[in-house]
Amino acid sequence: MAVDPSCLFCRIVAGEAPSTRLHDDDLVLAIRDIAPRAPTHILLMPRDHIPSARELTEDDAVLLGRLYAVAAELARREGISEAGYRVVTNVGRYGGQTVHHLHLHLLGGRPFAWPPG
Ligand code: 5GP
Ligand code: ZN
Repeated sequence: MAVDPSCLFCRIVAGEAPSTRLHDDDLVLAIRDIAPRAPTHILLMPRDHIPSARELTEDDAVLLGRLYAVAAELARREGISEAGYRVVTNVGRYGGQTVHHLHLHLLGGRPFAWPPG
């Protein structure tokens, strides 16, 4: 399991930095975003340090299945599933990525514009 000691999300996964944990298993951690952009704003990340979706391969199929299944379960738990929600991952500079440890944003509780700005 790759760990980058300088990575904020690796420190959150290790419990060395605080977070509000909503889900924790052998592959995936889900936490509340510290600066929510919607009534529900959850981050889902692998325990493994993968910098972004750019590095994903078919070998990550089980991890990706788990990330999306946990997102769907948390959306139900948050009561945003029926109205709909958004799951996004930002990649690199143009994608607006600021933390370089792969994560999905689960956003809900209000409507979202398309395409994003
Ligand atoms: P990105 O910009 O990389 O797509 O998303 C990074 C997200 O991490 C942002 O939505 C930001 O608010 C959130 N974030 C940054 N630092 C922390 C932190 O210390 N704790 C939590 N829970 N979220 C953080
Ligand atoms: Zn990391």
